[in-house]
Amino acid sequence: MRVCRFDENRLGIIEGDSSAGLGAGNVRDVTAALEVLPQVRYPLPNHDPLIAHLPQVLARARAIAPTAPALSLAGRRLLSPVANPGKIVAAPVNYQTHLDEVRADKNLHHNTAAHTVTIQTAGLFLKANSSLVGPGEGVIIRKPDRRTDHEVELVVVIGETASHVSRADALDYVAGYAIGLDITIRGTEDRSFRKSVDTHSVLGPWLVTADEIPNPGQLDLHIAVNGEQRQQSNTSRLILSVPELIELASSFYTLYPGDVIFTGTPEGVSPIEAGDEIVATIEKIGTMRVHVRAAERAQRAVSDVEADLSASANATGGPAAALRDGGHVRQGA
Ligand code: MN
Repeated sequence: MRVCRFDENRLGIIEGDSSAGLGAGNVRDVTAALEVLPQVRYPLPNHDPLIAHLPQVLARARAIAPTAPALSLAGRRLLSPVANPGKIVAAPVNYQTHLDEVRADKNLHHNTAAHTVTIQTAGLFLKANSSLVGPGEGVIIRKPDRRTDHEVELVVVIGETASHVSRADALDYVAGYAIGLDITIRGTEDRSFRKSVDTHSVLGPWLVTADEIPNPGQLDLHIAVNGEQRQQSNTSRLILSVPELIELASSFYTLYPGDVIFTGTPEGVSPIEAGDEIVATIEKIGTMRVHVRAAERAQRAVSDVEADLSASANATGGPAAALRDGGHVRQGA
């Protein structure tokens, strides 16, 4: 089953073919199934409530789906399928070909020893939860003076609390899979700093439940920018496999339902800039389109923004609303 979150925190089930991430196909609006979730009170749990109760929610969703509204995916804004992960775990240099390209290119390694060691030496790192967005929200270039790269990665969504789990049992703890973009500023700083920028963890286009992907170690993945192929590989080339990553992570800390693991990126990383269109695909999951835009409005005079708003108000509500939202988010940025 393909489970998405869209528009104003709607819950959906995707119907139709795998090109649905590009706007084809339908989404069945099963938001009412969220009513089975328990009330959350302070202090908040360290799991994501939807993923922690996914079997109950999906059972309800299946029951109401036949009479739920079927909406066209075209024009829907896809959000991260996990709204509140307890943590975003990520694997550095987990494809040998990516480690090779980093070691060969000063613009990637920046003469920083920590960037060129193996994953066995580096271990895993964490990205700030506040960096998480869905494909419909897009990537904002916050540091235009720095090189910012795409990294396409298979992402594992943890479904059960996992501590000291062996690789043999690891897949029993997986709720499902999604496509991740680990957007990365290149430079000398620690990974967690360079990769925690707002909007620099993209998750989507939906969660594919684990029953549909019995073997996450045999999936083609690729990414194109403005129609040009940049990265293409297969998860069979992961240095640490999905079960090994869960074993390693859960040996250091407890993984909770909704925690996500970015599994690493293959060779072919390259810069992105405002105006770019990213299309990322992973076999058995689907395809998602992500737009890259500038964060220039924080530096612009309020009068300029207001002039744009009044100009576009005569056209359609969409651009004006988007501009208003963007301007508001960036106040004080
Ligand atoms: Mn990465």
